[in-house]
Amino acid sequence: MRKKTVRDIEVQNKRVLMRVDFNVPLEEGRVTDDTRIRAALPTIQYLLERGAALILMSHLGRPKGQVDEGLRMAPVGARLSELLEGPVRVLRDCLGPEVEEAVEAMQPGEVILLENTRFYEGEKKNDPDMARQLAALGEIYVNDAFGAAHRAHASTEGVTQYLPAVAGLLMERELETLGRVLEEPAHPFVVILGGAKISDKIGVIRNLLDPADALLIGGGMANTFLQAQGHNVAESLVEEEAVVEAQALLVEAGQRALRLLLPVDVVVADDFSAEAALKTVGVDEVPAGWRILDIGPHTAEEFGRALQDARTIFWNGPMGVFEFAPFAKGTRAVAQAVADSDAFSVVGGGDSVAAIQQMGLAERIDHISTGGGASLEFLEGSPLPGVEALDERQD
Ligand code: ADP
Ligand code: MG
Repeated sequence: MRKKTVRDIEVQNKRVLMRVDFNVPLEEGRVTDDTRIRAALPTIQYLLERGAALILMSHLGRPKGQVDEGLRMAPVGARLSELLEGPVRVLRDCLGPEVEEAVEAMQPGEVILLENTRFYEGEKKNDPDMARQLAALGEIYVNDAFGAAHRAHASTEGVTQYLPAVAGLLMERELETLGRVLEEPAHPFVVILGGAKISDKIGVIRNLLDPADALLIGGGMANTFLQAQGHNVAESLVEEEAVVEAQALLVEAGQRALRLLLPVDVVVADDFSAEAALKTVGVDEVPAGWRILDIGPHTAEEFGRALQDARTIFWNGPMGVFEFAPFAKGTRAVAQAVADSDAFSVVGGGDSVAAIQQMGLAERIDHISTGGGASLEFLEGSPLPGVEALDERQD
């Protein structure tokens, strides 16, 4: 990797300010999924073992630049402390004299977790004042928050102006894995895209047209392609403003050896609800007033066959509204096919990862990305501001 990592620096007796992605789901003051906290443990432990004093910071939810009692970091700190089997001191602010005093008194091996960085408007505005104040807390900056690397915020980008700045181990692993998928995938390279919105994923499709051997498109975003091909999708979710773009992509795909697979059959519903009446129809037979909520069994089978001999797989986005059990079959079939494949498999995106986890298949996926949006922007070929801002290696 061309960026420096924690392995390139000396941290003994240093105060290390580390950006992590602890944006985890909470319910009644408890962390309900600690995947992202666990993902940061290798870097945390690496630094503590080498005698750093560790100041952690993260955003949590969308507090809109002011204190939101429901989005304090305390429950996150409690869970981190359990996982580390050691004390974590959670501060009730991320800036100010009390924070400065607390960090100055730190000893090597101690951990402080700052309060939610988004309690300040300056975070999302990448305010230089806020960045400078954060930077003043540490002597070295580490960014391990891959999931936030596509945002130029004070704690991800601004802060690097004032401190030596390196990547953490999770950040390094994400960049190397996704870099490998993008730059040197073993072929056949099969990409599966689904989810609600095509507009989120047009850039990825375009950038993968050349490296990919097959592109399987399901979920809500397939509807826009179906409409672009002239099918009547009735009440299905369609992004009208993206139909022209979808048409262009179909043409571009046709000019290549790439196989682009769209649904041939779909599960339609008479309402957007788990209790709706449903039936399976061909893509030309969506009844007036009905909507597509899943791919059909023939499509799932065809997608499964395309995945069988894959050697690299990237999957983002469910094949249907899998939150409603009757419409989860397509997503479940694809998840199973990805898990069964011998390919090097990478899954990114909150909902696709949730589907994999619900099915207990996580162990059988080679890499589960901690960054949905960030992994898409990376595969789009867009520079990630939080990564770009890190120091380059000399060699
Ligand atoms: P990920 O989080 O994996 O990146 P997205 O957030 O892009 O995926 O999309 C997930 C959402 O897409 C889910 O909430 C799912 O219900 C929705 N979705 C999938 N298929 C359809 C469909 N046919 N119609 C409407 N919404 C859909
Ligand atoms: Mg999502």
